[in-house]
Amino acid sequence: MAIERTLSILKPDATRRNVTGAINERFEARGLSIVAQQRLRLTKEEAERFYEVHAARPFYESLVAFMISGPVVVQVLEGEGAVARVREIMGATDPEKAAPGTIRKDFGLSVEENSVHGSDSRETAEREIAFFFSEIEICP
Ligand code: ATP
Ligand code: MG
Repeated sequence: MAIERTLSILKPDATRRNVTGAINERFEARGLSIVAQQRLRLTKEEAERFYEVHAARPFYESLVAFMISGPVVVQVLEGEGAVARVREIMGATDPEKAAPGTIRKDFGLSVEENSVHGSDSRETAEREIAFFFSEIEICP
């Protein structure tokens, strides 16, 4: 498998509880390098645009409100098969259904406040890295 880059977001429930370092440890322990990282507040427009694929879903408005409720940490993670590896380390969307030892199982509060985002494909990763880090190369 190739070295890839992917985008991750540590969500407001994670910054609020000061568990961003603990979550980053999980990524680093599994061989992922944090090649760019920034703590910021999303504007409503940015959150709407970032999650626009979900615009028709019933949880969209609530998700946008949650994502702007506090600071987030946006980051580019790099490693062997990074896109799939990050999804695996995060676990299922709903913390109650996530496998033991995953970030969402151990830190997630609910299906919405599930602590982390990770790009779901290489194409999405390209778009999402460019969304936050226009100066960062999409490939290592
Ligand atoms: P993400 O895109 O954040 O990495 P995901 O790909 O596992 O998560 P998606 O289906 O893309 O899940 O949903 C995006 C986000 O929307 C979820 O991470 C969660 O915060 C929120 N969400 C998803 N389903 C629900 C739901 N049924 N109720 C409330 N919020 C939800
Ligand atoms: Mg998703």
